[in-house]
Amino acid sequence: MSESNQEYIVLTGARENNLKNVSLRIPKRKITIFTGVSGSGKSSIVFDTIAAESTRLLNENFSMFVRTFLPRVPQPDTDAIENLSMAVIVDQKRLGGGSHSTMGTITDISPILRLLFSRVGQPYVGPVNMFSFNDPQGMCPECNGIGRRLGVDMSKAVDMEKSLNEGALMLPDYAVDGWDWNMVLQSGDFDPDKKLTEYSEAELDLLLYGKARKVKMDFAGKATNITVEGVIEKFTNKYIKQDVKTKSERTQKAVMPFISEGPCSSCNGARLSQAALSCRINELNIAEMSAMEVGQLIRVIREMNDAVAVPVIKSLLERLQHLVDIGLDYLTLDRETDTLSGGESQRVKMVKHLSGSLVDVTYIFDEPSVGLHPRDVHRLNELLQKLRNKGNTVIVVEHDPDVIKVADHIVDVGPYAGKRGGTIVYEGSFSGLLESGTLTGTHMKRPLQLKHDCRQPSGKLLVKDATLHNLQNVSVDIPTGVLTVVTGVAGSGKSTLINEVFLSQHADAIVIDQSAVGVSTRSNPATYTGIMDDVRKAFAKENKVNQGLFSFNSKGACDNCQGLGVLYTDLSFLDSVKLPCDVCEGRRFKDEVLEYKLGGKSIAEVLEMTVEQALEFFQLKEVVRKLQAMSDVGLNYITLGQPLSTLSGGECQRIKLASELHKKGSIYVMDEPTTGLHMSDIGHLLEIMNRLVDAGNTVIVIEHNLDVISQADWIIDMGPDGGSKGGQVVYEGIPSQIIHSEQSITGRYLSMN
Ligand code: ADP
Ligand code: ADP
Ligand code: ZN
Ligand code: ZN
Repeated sequence: MSESNQEYIVLTGARENNLKNVSLRIPKRKITIFTGVSGSGKSSIVFDTIAAESTRLLNENFSMFVRTFLPRVPQPDTDAIENLSMAVIVDQKRLGGGSHSTMGTITDISPILRLLFSRVGQPYVGPVNMFSFNDPQGMCPECNGIGRRLGVDMSKAVDMEKSLNEGALMLPDYAVDGWDWNMVLQSGDFDPDKKLTEYSEAELDLLLYGKARKVKMDFAGKATNITVEGVIEKFTNKYIKQDVKTKSERTQKAVMPFISEGPCSSCNGARLSQAALSCRINELNIAEMSAMEVGQLIRVIREMNDAVAVPVIKSLLERLQHLVDIGLDYLTLDRETDTLSGGESQRVKMVKHLSGSLVDVTYIFDEPSVGLHPRDVHRLNELLQKLRNKGNTVIVVEHDPDVIKVADHIVDVGPYAGKRGGTIVYEGSFSGLLESGTLTGTHMKRPLQLKHDCRQPSGKLLVKDATLHNLQNVSVDIPTGVLTVVTGVAGSGKSTLINEVFLSQHADAIVIDQSAVGVSTRSNPATYTGIMDDVRKAFAKENKVNQGLFSFNSKGACDNCQGLGVLYTDLSFLDSVKLPCDVCEGRRFKDEVLEYKLGGKSIAEVLEMTVEQALEFFQLKEVVRKLQAMSDVGLNYITLGQPLSTLSGGECQRIKLASELHKKGSIYVMDEPTTGLHMSDIGHLLEIMNRLVDAGNTVIVIEHNLDVISQADWIIDMGPDGGSKGGQVVYEGIPSQIIHSEQSITGRYLSMN
C-alpha cells in the first residue's frame, strides 16, 4: 500500500447487489456525500459494503466463544477494503424504548440535571437517585414512574342522556336485561326510567362509584344476599387494577375500547415522588424543568450562578446547546422517544455522538436532512462539519442540494437505477459536479419555477379550533380537488395538524406514510400489490394444475423453510439471525413446483425479476397495470420477491402509493413522500400526485422539499417557528404569493432559489 493511500478508505471491486466492480477512494477525516437516483447503488456501497465490513471486522475482535453468539455477517462481495476505521451508523430507525425512555435519558442530559438538583436544590433531598423516575426510590408510587394511569373512558362507558332501561350503561357487562344490569336494578336504589342527567349527585355517585355492599334480593321466591358495586368501580377492579392482558383474548377485545390512559392523579404526570417534586431551584422543580422546551431551559440554567455547581451547569449547558444546534430546541427533555419522528430520532442520535469523545471513527448517515426545513439545513451541515473537525470520517447518503454543497468530496452513483446503475458517474468537488452532466449535476443547476396555473378547489374541508400539542387554536380550510402542501419548520405543527387533528376527523382518508408494510415475513411487492394472485392463476392455467401450488403458504412451498427462503435462528439476547434455506437455496418452492413454467420461467424466476423486467415479460392487463404503477412511483429497480422488511421507509411509502393509485374521489395524505428520492425522481412523484388530483382526488402532502412546494395548488405554511413559537398558520394561498409574505420563512427560501 502506498503512503498516500493511508489518507483514504480504499474500496476495490465491489459487487454487492447491482454494483459493477466499483472501485473508489474515500478521503479520511473529510465529509464524503453519496448522491444518485434511488436504486442506483448508494446503499449497496455505503451500507452493504463499507458498513457491513466494518461490523464484520469489529466482530472478529471478539473471542471465538462470543462470536458464536453474534449475528454472522457475511463478507461483502468485494475484492478489498483497506484503511477502514470503526463505523458508527446513525440511521432513521425510530428510538423505541417505551415510556421509560425520554429525550433526557437517551441524550444523558437527565442524569446531569438530577445531579444538579441533588447538589443545589432546596430543600435538600439527595441522594441523586431520588430524582430518577426509573429508580424505585424516586418514582411516583402510584404510577410506578410512568406518569400515566389507565382509567375508564367515561364518554364510552355511560350515556348520560339515557335511562337504565334505555341502555345508559354501555360497558360490556351491563347490556339491558343482562346479569349485571339486573343486579343494578334489583338493588332498588335507582329509578330505571330516569335519565342519568336527572340523577342527584349522590345517586350518580352510588351508581358509578358505590363501594361493594350486600343487598337482599328475591330470587325465585328465595331471599338471597348479593354484592352490588358501583359500575365504574367494579369495572376498574376487574379489568384495570388487574392486568387486562391476563384475560382471554375475547374479554380483552370487549373491554379495551372502554379503557383509556390519562395523567396520574398523584404526580400529575411528573412521574416522581412527592419528595423529589418538592425540591426546587429558583422555584422550579425537576419535572417542570424537564417539561420546558430545550430553548427555554437553556436560558433558565444559564441564569443560575451557584459556585458549588459550576462544573455541572457547564456540562449541562454544553449538551443542551448541541440540541439547539441541531434544531431540536422545540423538544422537551420529558418527551418520550418513541413519539419522535424518524428525522428527529436521527438527530437525537447525532447529539449523543457529539457529546462523546470518539475520534477516528467513520460516521455513516442516511439522509439526515429528512424532516428538516431548508432554514435548518445549515445547522445539520455545521454538525457534520463538527464531527469531521474532531478527526472523524463522515459519509452521508443525501439528496438535498444544500447538504451536498458542504461535501469535501462527492461520489455520484448511476447513471440510473438497478441494472442500469451500479457505477460511479462522478467523483470530485461540488463545482465539478455541476459541470459533470450527470443527472444530479444537471438537476442541481435548474432554477426553481413557481406554479402559476393553480387549480381551483372544488370545495373545502374544515379544521376548527385545533389545540393539540402546540396548535394555537388553529382553524383552517383545506381545499378539496387540488394539491395542497403543508409546510413549515420542524416542530411547527404540521404533523399534529394533519396526521392527528385532520385525520381524526376524516378517518376515511388514505394515509400513505413511511411505516413498514407487509403483514407477514412472506410479504413482498408481488403479494402486497396483488400481482401474485394473477401470476398464480396464470401459472395454474398454463400448466393445468391447482393455483394453490404456487403460494408460499401451501404444500407447494419448501417444507424446510415454509416458503420463506430463509431460516431464522433465534438467539435469546440478540437479533435473530437469518440464513438462506439450505434445501431450496432461497427459491422458496419445492423442486416439482419449479418444473412448471410460464413463458419459459419458473415461479421462482418470476419473483426474481425486477419491476422493469416483469413489465417486459408480462402481457396480462391487470399485472401490467400494477407493475406500471410501481414503475411510476420510481420502484422500477425492486424485485417482485424482495421481502417487504428489506424496503426503506421511503420505498414503503411509494409501494403504498402504487397500490392506491387507481382510487377516485378520495383524500390522500402523504408525509414527506420525497424521502429517499433523488431530484430527478421528484418530477415523477409530482406527475403522480397531479394525476391523482386530475382524477378527482384531494391530495394533502407534508413536505419541506422546495420543488414540491413550488408546484402546489395551495400552500398552508405553519410557523412562525417550532414548538411554543409555532402552532399557527402563517400563510395560506397559492405559491406565487407566499414569497411576498413577511412572516413566512418558507416564502423566503422559495424566493432565494
Ligand atoms: P440506492 O441506495 O441508491 O437507492 P440500493 O443500493 O439500495 O440503491 O439498490 C441498488 C440496487 O440493488 C437496486 O436495484 C435494489 O433493488 C438492489 N438491492 C438492494 N438491496 C437488495 C437486497 N437486499 N436484495 C436484492 N436486491 C437488492
Ligand atoms: P412538525 O410536524 O411541524 O415537525 P409536530 O406536529 O411534530 O411538528 O410538532 C409540533 C409540536 O408538538 C412540537 O413542539 C412537538 O414537540 C409537539 N409534539 C408533537 N408530537 C408530540 C407528542 N406525541 N407528545 C408531545 N408533544 C408532541
Ligand atoms: Zn404518578
Ligand atoms: Zn426452503
